[in-house]
Amino acid sequence: MSKLCITDYTKEELGNIIRPSFRAKQIYEWIYKKHVKSFEDMKNLPKDLRTELETKYHFQPLKISTVEESIDGSKKYLFSMLDGKTVESVLLPMKKEKIGKSGEVITQAKYTVCISSQVGCKIGCAFCLTGKSGFLRNLTPAEITAQVAIIKRENGIRENRRVNIVFMGMGEPLDNLENVKKAVNIFSDPDALAISPRRQTISTSGLSSQIKKLGEMNLGVLLAISLHAVDDELRDKLMPINKAYNIKSVIDAVKAFPIDARKKVMFEYLVMKDLNDDIKSAKKLVSLLNGIKAKVNLIFFNPHSGSEFKRPEVKKVVDFQSYLINHGVLCTIRESKGLDISAACGQLKDRKENNEHS
Ligand code: SAH
Ligand code: SF4
Repeated sequence: MSKLCITDYTKEELGNIIRPSFRAKQIYEWIYKKHVKSFEDMKNLPKDLRTELETKYHFQPLKISTVEESIDGSKKYLFSMLDGKTVESVLLPMKKEKIGKSGEVITQAKYTVCISSQVGCKIGCAFCLTGKSGFLRNLTPAEITAQVAIIKRENGIRENRRVNIVFMGMGEPLDNLENVKKAVNIFSDPDALAISPRRQTISTSGLSSQIKKLGEMNLGVLLAISLHAVDDELRDKLMPINKAYNIKSVIDAVKAFPIDARKKVMFEYLVMKDLNDDIKSAKKLVSLLNGIKAKVNLIFFNPHSGSEFKRPEVKKVVDFQSYLINHGVLCTIRESKGLDISAACGQLKDRKENNEHS
């Protein structure tokens, strides 16, 4: 019988499996805070329990396969799972720690970790490498959370440091909602990674019915919508999911989504040369977002081999941004962090597995 992964369970679930239930808290602390390598090292558990756990469970669902560091400081990890399949995650340092003259911390370091939720993806967006490779399987809660746990451990990111999580790696998180929900719970647990749901952003291609379900779960997470086009004709071509859930249904689902009064829904807009980079599109975007507390993130399309789309001109993107800002819509341009290490969705995996060196 193959061993189960103990980090697939939320603390509550574990407390129902292992009695007395406070053992769950102890196990969590050994794994997430003290980074032990085996159940044998969990010194405050009775010997019998340690032996029993060792025979039934493991807690190493991922191994680091490759790490690439970019000149801008971002690091891309390729992880391999027990079945040999691989997924990727990226660590993006957002702010460096500043230490004052007498050794006091003036500015806390801040990080964002971009994680995957599936191996491949069923949605098949025309511009996305992950989508091109098809769908293999969902990640388990343990495989989702281990990406952050390992990256924190490997980079010596202490417990109290600010870490944001974005589900913007490989896969469609809302197509793996039950496991993503558990992962959000484990991330937020003070005895595990202690990352508040308000620091976790779930990015979706717009599965309206699942956005509704996620809203009903009231997890407190932030929502990001990969919009990329303002009319259904273009969006149908770029993102086949639009045929099932068109722009209006996505916007309606967002309007019904519960968000913290101080927060905003993020709309990602991948800018592609001569396709969606014109002011007419910007104008349409402003009207679509009317009535939503939104923030738009313009992303330069990151070309990959074989892609039919092109990177837009900087001026076009800046003009697009100015139009939105001048019409009252918050808008940022995403820095192309990690471009030299192929940081966009699916690109490291593609390069490693196809042995294509750049
Ligand atoms: N499936 C979810 C989350 C993962 S994709 C979603 O689509 O939202 C995360 C982001 O990476 C999406 O906004 C996607 O559009 C973007 N992306 C995909 N391919 C890209 C590329 N070649 N260049 C830049 N961004 C890309
Ligand atoms: Fe899947 Fe997101 Fe890529 Fe579309 S952009 S294929 S939804 S991972």
